[in-house]
Amino acid sequence: MGPLLRDRVAFVTGAGAGIGRTIARRFAEEGADIAAVDLNGPAAEETAAFVRALGRRAEAIRADVANAHDVQAAAGRALEAFGRIDVLVNNAGITLDATIPEMSEADWDAVLDVHLKGTFLCTRAIAPRMREAGRGAIVNMSSISGKIGNIGQANYSSAKAGLVALTKVTAREFAAHGIRANVIQPGLIGTPPTLERGEAKLREGAAGTPLGRIGTPDEVASVALFLASDMASFVTGAVIEVTGGRHM
Ligand code: NAD
Repeated sequence: MGPLLRDRVAFVTGAGAGIGRTIARRFAEEGADIAAVDLNGPAAEETAAFVRALGRRAEAIRADVANAHDVQAAAGRALEAFGRIDVLVNNAGITLDATIPEMSEADWDAVLDVHLKGTFLCTRAIAPRMREAGRGAIVNMSSISGKIGNIGQANYSSAKAGLVALTKVTAREFAAHGIRANVIQPGLIGTPPTLERGEAKLREGAAGTPLGRIGTPDEVASVALFLASDMASFVTGAVIEVTGGRHM
């Protein structure tokens, strides 16, 4: 078997850091060209440089996924550069934690806008183009927080739970056109925002995980790669937990 994403084009949001950057790199290693989309333009450029160093084509695109105009322009740029988009990974994300009495309306809106509206906007912009091509794979990044409802994350947990329903709707609406949509729920993964929580929190997280440690961005990227590839040709509407067994 050749590379899993040979000559596919992947549009990856939040590709400037953490899990998104790792997904862009893993996909490129498996033969994909990458539209690296991020609010942080220089970070997207860095990811694009990684991808080019692997011998694949890359476009760095600065865009706010919560902004319909930005998303339309980003999709247009990727289509202009590559001619099509085969894989969409809705990964961009933020957290603005506070308990419900302390949470501002602005912080509620901001988190819902990036995760839930952002995924809707990117899907609305790109899935119809996949439909014209008669194939495509969409991978949405939820969180185990959307299953359990974390204290201090009313906005984030609600958005991440909403992504499960949005993924299932996407899977149903586009299945007849050869497009699959699936959603990943990672647990604690060692990206900068997680590592910033401090040693004690990380030890506590590892202790509560049956596999006894936190996960790596590569372990999430492996599952995204599987779902994006033809290996998952009969998988759609699925919710895949990548948690080391935590909260099963
Ligand atoms: P990260 O902060 O390292 O990277 C997120 C990237 O998204 C950044 O480059 C940021 O600039 C970009 N971004 C933020 N807002 C954006 C916007 N409006 N438009 C475009 N880009 C935007 O985060 P991460 O830990 O790699 O998380 C990636 C995804 O995985 C997120 O959806 C997150 O909720 C999810 N997740 C992470 C963990 C974890 O433990 N790290 C666990 C579960 C789920």
